[in-house]
Amino acid sequence: MNATKQIVLLGAGHAHVYIIKHWQQSAAPNAQLTVVTPRAEHIYSGMLPGLIAGKYQRAQCELHVARLLKNNAVNWIQASAQHISAASQVITLDTGKQISFDTLSIDIGRAVNKLELDRRIPGATEHGLCIHPIDDFATQWPAVLARLRQKPQSVVVVGAGASGVEIILAVAKALSLSQTKAGLTLIAGTRGLLHNYSPMAKRLTREVLKRAGVQVIEQHCVGLTSDALSLHGGLRLKCDLAILATGGHAPTVLTPSGLSLNDYGYIRVNEYGQSHSHPNVFAVGDASASTPYPHPRSGVYAERAGPPLRRNLVASANRRSLVAFKPPKRTLNLLNLSNGSALATWGRWAACSRLFWWWKNAIDKGFIAKQLQRVPQKEVPKPAPNVGTS
Ligand SMILES: Cc1cc2nc3c(=O)[nH]c(=O)nc-3n(C[C@H](O)[C@H](O)[C@H](O)COP(=O)(O)OP(=O)(O)OC[C@H]3O[C@@H](n4cnc5c(N)ncnc54)[C@H](O)[C@@H]3O)c2cc1C
Repeated sequence: MNATKQIVLLGAGHAHVYIIKHWQQSAAPNAQLTVVTPRAEHIYSGMLPGLIAGKYQRAQCELHVARLLKNNAVNWIQASAQHISAASQVITLDTGKQISFDTLSIDIGRAVNKLELDRRIPGATEHGLCIHPIDDFATQWPAVLARLRQKPQSVVVVGAGASGVEIILAVAKALSLSQTKAGLTLIAGTRGLLHNYSPMAKRLTREVLKRAGVQVIEQHCVGLTSDALSLHGGLRLKCDLAILATGGHAPTVLTPSGLSLNDYGYIRVNEYGQSHSHPNVFAVGDASASTPYPHPRSGVYAERAGPPLRRNLVASANRRSLVAFKPPKRTLNLLNLSNGSALATWGRWAACSRLFWWWKNAIDKGFIAKQLQRVPQKEVPKPAPNVGTS
């Protein structure tokens, strides 16, 4: 008789949530699935701007991993990985415990590398409020907002990618609801506003930012103190609150793991989602870097990886051949503009509409609701739609 294979899912990111939910339908009787994740629930990032703007209550944005794990024949260890040894197939947890695996799948997203952030923006971690980890940001936000509402303030968001734009517009909305006067600035760096979006998307977003009273500065932030921000070129900008939306980094736990990583520290994977260096290790979502199919990091790619990853984990437990997974070339992105409309982009095309906000809201709420629905035993899961909402 074959020994039971230990499959460990590290992190409860988008793809792993799908696997946890559908594990009972997987034909892998000789495998035991264990999930290692630090939180019983976490905030769904697509809804964070709505939470900041007061559109949602926190409970509406929470993905309940613990509830999902119930009755799904999956073990849950509430912990964070502190060290991964791909060679000896052991993970050391922050609880001090060690667990071993036959097959490991990593879906731990991105993190903030504080050393790296302070190297780029001295004073950033001491004086700035970072949007990563999203759960910590969401916890701090009500007190931050209450402080902002006490007297006129100047608020700066550093980083003008999709999340920076969504965050400054959400802050503008939250303050306007309480008629709080505030100076609002978006620091877009020399790459500028939404640097990887089309000219049409940039033009539309610029108009929305202007209407919301947000000033856009296309210079790099090079330092932060308790009451000011320094820009490249010597300019100092008074600021009472600096929110850092400069994008995450590869989790530092990956660095000494022995796994093959790209130049930025993300796990290099092939078309099966399998590590280049260790075939019994899979990686998906923001923590991975697909070498045959490079793509942007977003929740929609992470979510789409769930069904093929499940097939490949089952195949690896049963010694069957793996299935290649080709991510979509482009996705429809929906940005919450916090003015009752959303910006939709598809390649170079872009448009703003209330209808797009209605759609984004339905997708995001549907995502949370879908995770909590029970799956009938024989259901063949459908792949998620090819739509990203930021
Ligand atoms: C403000 C904001 C808004 C966004 N909006 C959208 C959007 O609308 N649509 C979209 O497609 N994308 C959006 N994104 C991007 C999206 O959040 C990420 O691309 C997506 O969450 C990545 O998913 P993932 O599965 O890789 O990991 P995540 O969803 O980040 O999940 C990682 C999991 O791993 C766990 N974990 C982390 N470290 C460890 C460890 N050491 N040990 C164990 N567990 C660990 C975490 O607790 C978490 O459960 C947004 C991002 C931001 C910042």
